Amino acid sequence: MGGVFLPSIDGIKQQTFSMDFILPRVERFLSEELPRIVSASEVPWHYNHRCKTCKFVEDCRKDAKGTIAMIPYLSVDDASDLKQAVPKEGEVDIEDLVNYVNNIQIDSNVSNVKKVKQIIRYNEDRKQSPYLESKTENAQYIGIPTATFPQETDHNLIIAMFLDPFVSRPFGWAICLYTNDGKIMKEFQHADSNLKSEKNETLSSFISLMNSFVTHLEEAFKYLCQEGSRACIFVYEEKEKTLIQDSLLELITLDPDKISKDIQPIQHKAMQCFLNLFDDCSLLLAIKNDDNENSEIPDGLREFPRLIVLEHSLSENIAINVPGFYQITDVWEQMVKPTLKNDQELNSLDPSNIDLESIYATWDSMNKERINKNLLFRTEFVNVAIQAYYSLLKKFTDNIASILIFSPQKFKFSEVQKFNHHYLGKLYFFTQFEAVTSSSQKRADRLKDFVQGEAICGILLEFDEFVEENHNETIAQFIVCDETSHKLETNNFTNFILTEDSAEGTREAICFSDMKYKKKFSGCPLPVLALIKVVDNSESIAIHLKGEFQKKRSKLQKNAKFRLYKRYLDFNTDKILGMLINIDKQKNSLSLEILKDPNAWSTSLPEKLPEKLKTIALNKCDSFTPSQKKISEALLEKRLQIIWGPPGSGKTHFLALFVTWYLTEVIPLLREKKANTIIGITANTNTTIDNLLERISVVQKRMNKTDDFLLVRMTTRSTRPSNSNDITYCTPQELNFKDAYKHTVVGGTIWDWHKIYDKQKIDIMIIDEGSQLLVANACVALECLNQTHGKLIIAGDHMQLGPIIQNTSHPAFSDDHPLIFGSTQQCLMRKVGDPSFNEDDFFLKKGQNHDYGPCTLQLKENWRMNCELNSFFQEIYGDDYISKNRNLEWDFKDDDLSHRKSCYQADIVSWKSNDFSKVK
Ligand code: SF4
Repeated sequence: MGGVFLPSIDGIKQQTFSMDFILPRVERFLSEELPRIVSASEVPWHYNHRCKTCKFVEDCRKDAKGTIAMIPYLSVDDASDLKQAVPKEGEVDIEDLVNYVNNIQIDSNVSNVKKVKQIIRYNEDRKQSPYLESKTENAQYIGIPTATFPQETDHNLIIAMFLDPFVSRPFGWAICLYTNDGKIMKEFQHADSNLKSEKNETLSSFISLMNSFVTHLEEAFKYLCQEGSRACIFVYEEKEKTLIQDSLLELITLDPDKISKDIQPIQHKAMQCFLNLFDDCSLLLAIKNDDNENSEIPDGLREFPRLIVLEHSLSENIAINVPGFYQITDVWEQMVKPTLKNDQELNSLDPSNIDLESIYATWDSMNKERINKNLLFRTEFVNVAIQAYYSLLKKFTDNIASILIFSPQKFKFSEVQKFNHHYLGKLYFFTQFEAVTSSSQKRADRLKDFVQGEAICGILLEFDEFVEENHNETIAQFIVCDETSHKLETNNFTNFILTEDSAEGTREAICFSDMKYKKKFSGCPLPVLALIKVVDNSESIAIHLKGEFQKKRSKLQKNAKFRLYKRYLDFNTDKILGMLINIDKQKNSLSLEILKDPNAWSTSLPEKLPEKLKTIALNKCDSFTPSQKKISEALLEKRLQIIWGPPGSGKTHFLALFVTWYLTEVIPLLREKKANTIIGITANTNTTIDNLLERISVVQKRMNKTDDFLLVRMTTRSTRPSNSNDITYCTPQELNFKDAYKHTVVGGTIWDWHKIYDKQKIDIMIIDEGSQLLVANACVALECLNQTHGKLIIAGDHMQLGPIIQNTSHPAFSDDHPLIFGSTQQCLMRKVGDPSFNEDDFFLKKGQNHDYGPCTLQLKENWRMNCELNSFFQEIYGDDYISKNRNLEWDFKDDDLSHRKSCYQADIVSWKSNDFSKVK
């Protein structure tokens, strides 16, 4: 067990954690790596921007002069590439690098030389690197084409925000609007801060500070929108952007039911600010579930970030002769000062009197005005740095458009849908946030390649020939030029766009609006294509791309080079958003009732099976194991059951047994029940749904119950299998439960259920692999349930893979808020009186058993592992997770396993000696 003391609102608290798994690593570090580092003759690490927060920064900065840290913002990988490329024993310094560049064939295409050129930003026209040739103390413009700084703006909105690290919340902010020539607009200049004292480190002072922030930000946004301004928003550094994002998310995720309904309007403003600030969410918001979405989206370049981190733009294109990273004083001395002519301006803007790097150091309990002034001074500094950036650029080139390819669109302030219930508003927001992040991630490859000037992220191809052509769809063969670096997976989705291998081609790919064409297969400005085949010859790899090639038809000549980029394809986000709006309009929404308090909903069954009948029903499931029987019994009395199925527990098989037993033994006991029972099945993947339906079919046959109920799989006509005697296939629209002549089990994806959720209601919904299904998507399945007696079964293992979430800055909820942004299973597992559980609850302490509340029961039998293997799983799932095949042996005679025999035996030896690091 390890522990650290962390500051929190209630003072310093001890946080403990299990260290078992990292002990071998700690041991290796102490016994091998640390002695090597300590005894090294030269220091192997280098000073860099990561050193910013280190207290030795000033000392190391002095020592770093003359080392390769003189190439600022050098990543660890780049530093190691330089060390490998430059032939020298020991540490490489800047002199060695200069000698290397002077003595090699710099126009060589050898990969080492290419790498060095990229790292030192070698300029082919000027035949120099701005880092190596810099003899002056004045900043130089590097001249790399970029999409992260605007060509021209009408207004610049500058934001500063600072963190109180003790409570991980901001203590002050400033917002200031400037015209494009740097003139301040006083009516949009605001700052606010809390005084440094314990009473200000509370949730209510945070809400009050953020209230004034979102109010003034929204005002500025509305003004920019009204003016139709081509505006951008700037912060100085990444941590300010992260702080703004985290603070808004914290505000949005507060629970008004627990705090006060009064925070709902503030949360609504925060959502609007969030989605208008980050990425180009406005494009998504403009859609508003309208099929006619295209009309809202402007032409020309779009989908660039609205919020710009100035430090990134400086590190990318400004060379300042200092090691590691640029401090504000460096930017002032070498970049801003030389561009200011007037002495008055020089004196009034000189940041040397105020420590702009760390306004926190000057934060005190006495003088709010002084803090606000310092915060505003930081926005002023950012403003002059932006102006200096443009003047350096103008000195560098007359053709600004060749360097800055991005011109902001007219500012649109997108209103966020208003919700009556805040859970739905949050789910709506989260669904949009995920879509926008996902789209931005796909687009990032094109932007990177544009800056690098070659296809590094995109796949470089050579056109070979057309394989098949008809009037609207064509298959063409291309040769992959760089076959090693890309994983080529085939499918029928038009996941890719094709563009020429040139700066102009990449620019076209950047201009391709992923959001606008997210549901389109044709009529897009670039060919949208499916990778349907990979032909791996011994000499080369060829691929077949299928789709419309018209847009590039004239360029498709033998050996012409192209790039293939992933695009954002999304048919579902709009459906989920529309459904959340519909749920919000309902008076008594079932989804909401379940999300709010699943334990209470679970007990709301109007009628329970009488004890006598229950005993009869349970006597019919004698073949069930004790834990299977316990779960089945619970389901007779409750509406919600979460079945926690660890690996090997036979979850699918149990679900099949349960469905068969329920329909053939329990339902006949309910004499008053006239209509046939409908059980729905859904999951995150088609494979999971098919597996479960097939398993039910096997059990049904084995028990001679094929006449008792029907198995139906919803599918589209094009994907329907031609033959199956056991399962009936139909489209969702063809389903009509009212005319069902038998009990029916129906499987379909969330999107199949989405087509019928407002028409057909069912008796039981089974969500398989519920730990992988997002709550917003699961709402579709919940809405299909019969309002008065519908039951919900969620099967899965929350200890295994969760849902795929795109946002690294996943919004964290307070401890008393249900986990509605994660998996359905985790969200609905609630202990009595506890609205959520946190990840600490996952880990068992010695002798402890898991408790995930009254609606969760675990399958306790491991059918797949012998005692030896199961002993490891007992540490995770509890001592009562028992092996049902205690003496199961691995069959090493099996050809697939024979090569693993020696490895397995070595693993067991390492395992028993607790040396997990050697277990393969
Ligand atoms: S400033 Fe110096 S001591 Fe601190 S992290 Fe950087 S190199 Fe290490």
